[in-house]
Amino acid sequence: MAELLEVYNMVKHFPVRRGLMRSRREYVHAVDGISFSVDSEQTMGLVGESGCGKSTAGRAILRLIRPTSGEVRFKGENLLTMDAGQERQMRRQMQMIFQDPFGSLNPRLTVERIVEEPLLTHREGNGRERRERVADILRIVGLLPEHMKRFPHEFSGGQRQRIMIARALVLQPELIICDEPVSALDVSVQAQIINLMVRLQREFRFSYIIISHDLSVIRYVSHKVAVMYLGQIVEMAPAATLYATPRHPYTLALLSAVPMPDPRYKRQRIILSGDVPSPINPPAGCRFHPRCPRRMDVCEQTAPIMREVGRQHVVACHLYTDGPEWRPVPPGKPIKAAGRSGASAAGI
Ligand code: SF4
Repeated sequence: MAELLEVYNMVKHFPVRRGLMRSRREYVHAVDGISFSVDSEQTMGLVGESGCGKSTAGRAILRLIRPTSGEVRFKGENLLTMDAGQERQMRRQMQMIFQDPFGSLNPRLTVERIVEEPLLTHREGNGRERRERVADILRIVGLLPEHMKRFPHEFSGGQRQRIMIARALVLQPELIICDEPVSALDVSVQAQIINLMVRLQREFRFSYIIISHDLSVIRYVSHKVAVMYLGQIVEMAPAATLYATPRHPYTLALLSAVPMPDPRYKRQRIILSGDVPSPINPPAGCRFHPRCPRRMDVCEQTAPIMREVGRQHVVACHLYTDGPEWRPVPPGKPIKAAGRSGASAAGI
C-alpha cells in the first residue's frame, strides 16, 4: 500500500495586529512544523483540543488557506507549487466535509443542485447524466432520489450530513478530509454517520483524514492517529498501538477522559491544570510544560525532538530519550511503497 499524501514540516502562521493602536504585528502559530503521511485507502485521525491547529492543518492541506511553509505532496506532486490548472485537477481528487452540515449547505439551492455542483465545476457529463449520478449517490448515502428537489432546511442534521457526504463523494475523490464530521449530531445519529463513512471507504476505496476532538470516534475509524497540541504533533502511532500504549503525558490525559464501555472498569482521570496557552506566544521548551504533570527542568528550556519509541510509534517528550530520532521523508526524496499497517518511507 503506497502513500497518497505526505505532509512535510507544514507551517501556518496567521499575522495579527495587537497593542496600542494595533501597532504590533504578531503571529498566531496555528500549525508549526507537522509531518505525517496517509496511505491509500487508509484513515488518518488528527486529534486534540479545540485550538490545537488540527482544522487549520486540514484546510492548509487542501489549500483552502495557503501554508506559510512546508511541503504537501499528493501522489508525489507538491500541491503548494501547482499552477491553477493543476490545482483544479487535484481538487477533483480531494474533497472536504465540514463540521456544520447546515452552515455549509446553501439554503437557497435544492439538494440536486448542491450535489451536482462539483460535477458542473469540473464539467462532468450532460444534464441527464449528472441527474442520474446525483440520484445514484443519494441512494448510496441512504437518501432517496425524491429528496433531490428539496432544500436543506427540510432535512434533519444526520440527513444534511449525508448530503455533504454525497457532495464530497460525487466526483469519486481519492482523499476526503472530514473536519469534526459528527460533533454537531446527536449520539445515535453519530454512529449511523460513522458507520456510513466506514462502509463508503470500503466500497469506494479512498482515504480519509478525520479531524476530531473525540477520541472514541477517532479510535473507531482510524488506522493511524496523530495527537496535536498547540500546533505540533506530539505523538503518532497506528491506532491500536496508540490506544493500547500511549506514551506522551498529553495523550495519557486525553485518553483518561474517554469513558470505558464497561462500567465495572474505571480509568484514573488525569486532570490537566490551566488552559491551553496562547498560540501567539507559545511556551518555550516543550509547549505542554505549563500543564504537564511530569514536567522536568529541561522541559522549560528545550523543545523535545520526535523519537521512535516502538514500531511506527513516535513521541516528542523528554521522558523518552532512548529511541532514534524520527525524521520524516525530506522534500523531493522518492517515495517507497509501504505495508498495510500504515508503515511509510517516513517510518510511520
Ligand atoms: Fe511533559 Fe516534559 Fe514530556 Fe513535555 S517534554 S510532555 S513537559 S515530560
